[in-house]
Amino acid sequence: MPALSEVIAALDALWPPERAEQWDAVGTVCGDPDAPVRRVLFAVDPVQEVADEAVALGADLLVTHHPLYLRGTTTVSAGTFKGRVVHSLIKHDIALHVAHTNADRADPGVSDALAGALDLRITGPLVPDPDDPAGRRGLGRICEVDPPETLAAFAERAAGRLPATAQGIRVAGDREALVRTVAVCGGSGDSLFDEVRAAGVDAYVTADLRHHPASEAQQHSPLALVDAAHWATEWPWTELAAAQLDEVSDRHGWGLRTHVSRLVTDPWTAHAPSPSAPAAATFAAVPND
Ligand SMILES: [Zn+2]
Repeated sequence: MPALSEVIAALDALWPPERAEQWDAVGTVCGDPDAPVRRVLFAVDPVQEVADEAVALGADLLVTHHPLYLRGTTTVSAGTFKGRVVHSLIKHDIALHVAHTNADRADPGVSDALAGALDLRITGPLVPDPDDPAGRRGLGRICEVDPPETLAAFAERAAGRLPATAQGIRVAGDREALVRTVAVCGGSGDSLFDEVRAAGVDAYVTADLRHHPASEAQQHSPLALVDAAHWATEWPWTELAAAQLDEVSDRHGWGLRTHVSRLVTDPWTAHAPSPSAPAAATFAAVPND
């Protein structure tokens, strides 16, 4: 049975912490390096519900994509919601480890998992990592849709392939336009519009698109936008990450049990469509017009 330090070393080999953005806070949040690890839970968000799931599961290690503390803190009092998570975990001997922008940039990383969930053929990174001679690491991925399909069909398929959320999929663009090439970026991707335009793709799949960047992108060129819930675009990575750790565990004969949280931790919990929305805005209602 491996010690936490050995498992963390394996995770750091998959997602080297030095490849995280400067502003990021990745690595081990709590945990005893000498503690044995048998069971590992992967999740997107280190929220209380996920900590409770780790306790119920008897996990020894929780690996999340999002940091618990992105900035420094002076308290882990259980009177704060983040401190309560720390208390829940430590009381049950559960370590917490974060792989965030280092997992975004990895090969394979968060956007590979997103592209895989959408059944897309990856041709390369959207923003290549200059330190990768193979040209495979970096932010986002450029992909081909094979066979090409209409934006309406692509969006319907994305809604079915990604885990269900209250938001579902928001779409901007001509629903009959053919989608042959797509840029994907798991998580908030509206800082990458320049790169997406430069890539000359037909559509961009990401999350958290705001009014002005989306509106300006639409005015600039006929780029279609496919906006999914932030959590849904990153959740496929948890399955990929668990499979990667399984492989390491098999190689070392560790016998780790890995689990993937299926709790929907997207903060949006309901969606009320406007009663007077134009018919064309509802793909499902008018599939073939
Ligand atoms: Zn994210």
